[in-house]
Amino acid sequence: MSLTSSSEPDPSAGRREELARNLAGVRSRIAAACAAAGRDAGDVTLIAVTKTRPAADVLLLHELGVPDFGENKDQEAAPKAAACAAAGVPVRWHFVGQLQTNKAPSVARYASVVHSVDRVRLARALGKAARAAGQELTCLVQVSLAAADTTTTAADDPARGGVPIGQIGEVAEAIEAEPGLVLGGVMAVAPLGVPPGEAFAPLPSCSLAVRKIRPQAAIISAGMTGDLEAAIGNGATHVRIGTALLGARRPPVR
Ligand SMILES: *Cc1c(COP(=O)(O)O)cnc(C)c1O
Repeated sequence: MSLTSSSEPDPSAGRREELARNLAGVRSRIAAACAAAGRDAGDVTLIAVTKTRPAADVLLLHELGVPDFGENKDQEAAPKAAACAAAGVPVRWHFVGQLQTNKAPSVARYASVVHSVDRVRLARALGKAARAAGQELTCLVQVSLAAADTTTTAADDPARGGVPIGQIGEVAEAIEAEPGLVLGGVMAVAPLGVPPGEAFAPLPSCSLAVRKIRPQAAIISAGMTGDLEAAIGNGATHVRIGTALLGARRPPVR
């Protein structure tokens, strides 16, 4: 990595170009997947997952027309959200990671959507936090698509967490029962080692289980850099893209 001297051009110009190119690539993948599935490209919302990336990248992508951003750790998301708010940029934040109940008050202050609600206790904590913050919070039920015998995953595996398909209704009811929360739909991460087309096949029935409780809860959040086509083919309405937009992340420190 080279040091930038003051005689060099604005380094953010190069990054902006890179992000614009990546964004065009992701948008065309989404459009192609929608066309293949006979769906309208406007039916799929792109969420830029900016974990490990600076607020400067969020601001550049926002200028390029992306309003939705995802983060998976409150300790990183809270200051990033504060930096964007201080810059006067109205970002819609999606919290997509494993969430501890004691972090609910912080997350409720900046997030519009929490994708990773996988237990009744968390729904109650988020409801209380949303009311205290005076903010309406959309919540998705995170579903585990892993076979029952393959639930051991690393602490930073995005597939970690999620309710078994048979318990979707219970968590959805708990969200629906909380004033301040809006039941929005379902979220899933494809488990490793399963072809994504196969892994995502239960998504429509998972969505139906939630829509039985609230018919408007039609969000299906599924699809990452490696599997967005399979997710869109199985009904995803929101894809969560990090690597293809922002570049490879460093492996997390353990
Ligand atoms: C990191 C992450 C993503 C984005 O993953 P990429 O493969 O980099 O696109 C999506 N969803 C969740 C829950 C994540 O943690």
